[in-house]
Amino acid sequence: MDSSDEAWRLDPLARVLPAVRPRKLAKVPFVELAEGRLQGVVSSGSDIERVYVSSITAGSHGLSCSTNNNRPCGGLNGGSLCKHLQSLAEEAVQQYGLDRVARYLKVEVPEGSSLAAALSGSRDPAPAAAVFSRFLRHLAYLEAPASTAAEPEMQWFRGAGAVV
Ligand SMILES: [Zn+2]
Repeated sequence: MDSSDEAWRLDPLARVLPAVRPRKLAKVPFVELAEGRLQGVVSSGSDIERVYVSSITAGSHGLSCSTNNNRPCGGLNGGSLCKHLQSLAEEAVQQYGLDRVARYLKVEVPEGSSLAAALSGSRDPAPAAAVFSRFLRHLAYLEAPASTAAEPEMQWFRGAGAVV
């Protein structure tokens, strides 16, 4: 547990799921700097019932992307980021700022370049279950004050939570 993990806890997380789009799952509904990784949950562009757990390891820049059922992402080959990891990197920069994310991952981002372009890691599968269960708790926390207005699209997450 380091200081950035602590800061994440204090961060107002409500903005992760914008209230203006209550019926559509955000592209990157969950992102955190924790466990020595930038990691999070990225929704599949084509299938509302599928999400990917993606992560980038600090220091080594190991890349991991799999579904919440631990099926490896077909788009992650060699050292290039799949679209989920690219979305995760973009969302992290938006939420935490480029400097902080780059410091956490120990990556030099040249002026005018992007975080994704500056990474040079290779595929290194990381466990997805812990990230996914924190995401489910995060959803439960967000929905608690207004549970009667729960979106139908979110129902399957609760079902999935029972088997995680
Ligand atoms: Zn992927």
